[in-house]
Amino acid sequence: PATVVLAATPIGNVGDASDRLKTLLADADIVAAEDTRRLYDLANRLGVHVSGRVVAYHDHNERDKADGLLDQVETQGATVLVVSDAGMPTINDPGLAIVRRAIERGLPVTCAPGPSAVLDALALSGLPTDRFCYEGFLPRKHSERVQCLRALLGERRTIVFYETPHRIAEAMDDLFDVLGADRPMALCRELTKDYEQIRRGTIAEVRQSVADDPPRGEMVLVIGGASDEEAEAASTSTLSIEDMAVL
Ligand code: SAM
Repeated sequence: PATVVLAATPIGNVGDASDRLKTLLADADIVAAEDTRRLYDLANRLGVHVSGRVVAYHDHNERDKADGLLDQVETQGATVLVVSDAGMPTINDPGLAIVRRAIERGLPVTCAPGPSAVLDALALSGLPTDRFCYEGFLPRKHSERVQCLRALLGERRTIVFYETPHRIAEAMDDLFDVLGADRPMALCRELTKDYEQIRRGTIAEVRQSVADDPPRGEMVLVIGGASDEEAEAASTSTLSIEDMAVL
């Protein structure tokens, strides 16, 4: 049918590919893939023959490509499958541009859901899952990272960050300095893979563990939200002169 389908792909374990994903890969008229080589690699591992046209659809061209792909949906009745390298499209991955344009043009868009590191890590963290906020990647620069963490000081919800191995030590230092030693957290690495590992503890403990045994591979950080006292302290410390005048 004429539609855009966002489809999640495995984040490490190829066994997580759904039957629906396999059918879509085999049958879609057009597959818009973040990296075409990786797409064919996945299809090979799944034993699926991709019959449709495969086009590159990534961060740098997604705005330009979206309308052309949607023209195919509208005029040819095409099914356009959108996949990223791993996990859910649009979650720190391409996909948003075509969703927005499909909505604006009144064209159908649907989703074949599946793995995403944010939910996997959150569920395994042992921290509250009833409310959480996803912050994507922590900023690369120390000063911006500190600023970002300061803005989250009063956040009561469980906080999820993506991080890379080469910045994890610095990120742990900043978490320790800004959010303090005692909050509970989980460093979740290589999720769904053979070497999956979850390091749980306080920020101080996980920081020490990172210093003693630097973690490699892909990782997600899940941090406990502010306690009542921390939230209270954050709201009073960030009151500006203007806020005071209003009060
Ligand atoms: N769209 C993806 C999703 O739904 O999770 C996220 C893509 S983002 C570019 C890649 C980041 O996701 C990695 O740097 C890491 O932080 C996280 N990630 C992806 N796969 C992971 C895994 N198997 N284990 C831990 N973290 C993972």
